[in-house]
Amino acid sequence: MDKKIKAVSLISGGLDSLLSTKLILDQGIHVEGINFFTGFCVEGHTHAIRKKKSNKPKRNNALWVAEKLGIKLHIIDVVEEYRDILLNPKHGYGKNMNPCLDCKSFMVKKAKQWVLENNFDFIITGEVVGQRPMSQRKETMPIVQAQSGAGDLLLRPLCGKHLPATKAEIKGWVRHEKLLDFSGRTRKPQMALAKKYGFEDYATPAGGCCFLTNKQYSDKLVDMWQARGNRDYQLDDLMLLKVGRHIRPNQRFKMIIAREEGEVKFLRGYRSQYTHLYPTSCNGPLTLIDGKFNQQDLILAAKILARYSQVRDADSVDVEVKLDSGIMQTLSVEPFSNDEIKKEWRV
Ligand code: SF4
Repeated sequence: MDKKIKAVSLISGGLDSLLSTKLILDQGIHVEGINFFTGFCVEGHTHAIRKKKSNKPKRNNALWVAEKLGIKLHIIDVVEEYRDILLNPKHGYGKNMNPCLDCKSFMVKKAKQWVLENNFDFIITGEVVGQRPMSQRKETMPIVQAQSGAGDLLLRPLCGKHLPATKAEIKGWVRHEKLLDFSGRTRKPQMALAKKYGFEDYATPAGGCCFLTNKQYSDKLVDMWQARGNRDYQLDDLMLLKVGRHIRPNQRFKMIIAREEGEVKFLRGYRSQYTHLYPTSCNGPLTLIDGKFNQQDLILAAKILARYSQVRDADSVDVEVKLDSGIMQTLSVEPFSNDEIKKEWRV
């Protein structure tokens, strides 16, 4: 009996991986998806807690893609292994803290291991020649194949006509002429193909599939490392960088101030780990303090927090401080004016 040919597809949740997987499914191949959770993924849960874009469905796009295609999705936690990719990328960073070339090679390498362990035959990605400045250039796409060790096990269906035949084509599992010839930064061919297939409401993340391509997020990450004097991080740190208004009045401490109800609720989950503040004489946001602060810093933080509270003609605001040790104190402070909160404090 003929062996059933099986491919694994890297599913980010975006349109490219949706379409590339669909193309190979249509060639009669059994496909399962892998989604790697690095801690920086846009698919992280914090995108679901804000009111902004509340008209959009709150969903995990990788699971949505799997559901649309009717395939099994394996979500694999790579938070620990990813640390070395982020901190020591052989090919450096993109515009922000995104190590795209090393990241892609790492993910394809992990996919290759998975293929070998699970008796699959080849790997699919949604890459398109010339689409991204770092990892998806004509010169860098072979680097992903080489650095990952996947070689000709790696098939890129959306631009396969521009690339040398891979094992799947050579063996006749996949018909080369049915692959596509997409190239460049335009998204129009992908959108037209999505329309043809009847896919609507797909995710269109700006800039990339993770927060590391985002300038504000990258700035906050670098700021955290600089203030701590090392580049260590925990998953909680990465999550908190996605939430709230971040203000660093000095190198000793940073404030994370909730901007809306969803963020207040989210930050409540961190109260036992962090010193936190909230106003008691008026409504105002919950604020976490990250760092090693002194009493003067707490007073400064309370004045800043008072500025973001609903003070109505009051000269002072009572702010409750609960230290991470459990000790509590109340500070009565005069709220800062807008001008007193220096621009350079905003991370
Ligand atoms: S955008 Fe993020 S997840 Fe995507 S390749 Fe670049 S670093 Fe990796």
